Amino acid sequence: LVVLDHVDKHYGDLHVLQDINLEIKRGEVVVVIGPSGSGKSTLCRAINRLETIDSGTITLDGKELPAEGKGLAKLRAEVGMVFQSFNLFAHKTILQNVTLGPMKVRKLKKAEAEAEAKKLLDRVGVGVQAAKYPAQLSGGQQQRVAIARALAMRPQVMLFDEPTSALDPEMVQEVLDVMVSLAKDGMTMIVVTHEMGFARKAADRVVFMADGQIVESNTPSEFFDNPQSDRAKDFLGKIL
Ligand code: ATP
Ligand code: MG
Repeated sequence: LVVLDHVDKHYGDLHVLQDINLEIKRGEVVVVIGPSGSGKSTLCRAINRLETIDSGTITLDGKELPAEGKGLAKLRAEVGMVFQSFNLFAHKTILQNVTLGPMKVRKLKKAEAEAEAKKLLDRVGVGVQAAKYPAQLSGGQQQRVAIARALAMRPQVMLFDEPTSALDPEMVQEVLDVMVSLAKDGMTMIVVTHEMGFARKAADRVVFMADGQIVESNTPSEFFDNPQSDRAKDFLGKIL
């Protein structure tokens, strides 16, 4: 569904993505891990065209990603993104946060958008909060709203960039539970996370990045129990 072919990117002298080749199949859940600064966020942002790439191609469903214009808005609808910071619209209610995009991009009528939004908010467990504003919700609740908002665009793939790392520990699990349920429902997902429990439980594949390169790509059990490279062994030694 998502194919990166010989993708390279530099920030000045820094070769932040080095010949990245990665194919994510429909329904696959890929967890991306690696040390700080290894290029994980840059990879996510490149897939969503929040960053340009220097060379190589990225395709979604066989079509190369548009860099700008009308096609770009459509692409952004098809690739849902959830960040570490929830980025909800502070002056809109929870319900409005979820209905805005579908009304604008999918051209839904307000009533339709609201009906869908309520279902999604129920699904992530914050339906009763619909009339509140983001600041009135906990971090875990806000992040679940952010997931509902992305889902409301009916994306083909969901990108998560450290969705739980800004959360208080007691709120991490409620967000991971939503993500596990999405994975079980067959959503295609690319998840940057240090939550190894999630990786073991929900990932079809773990991709280990270091210094802008994909160093290993393996099943979670192979990767965790039998890492091949010194860099992966070193990394796992520090986090497990
Ligand atoms: P972390 O685990 O800390 O989130 P990461 O793997 O997501 O790290 P990136 O954010 O992709 O890493 O950054 C990769 C490298 O690119 C880092 O060395 C970072 O300093 C650098 N970098 C990121 N964004 C920019 C930018 N806009 N301009 C210049 N350098 C950047
Ligand atoms: Mg990052």
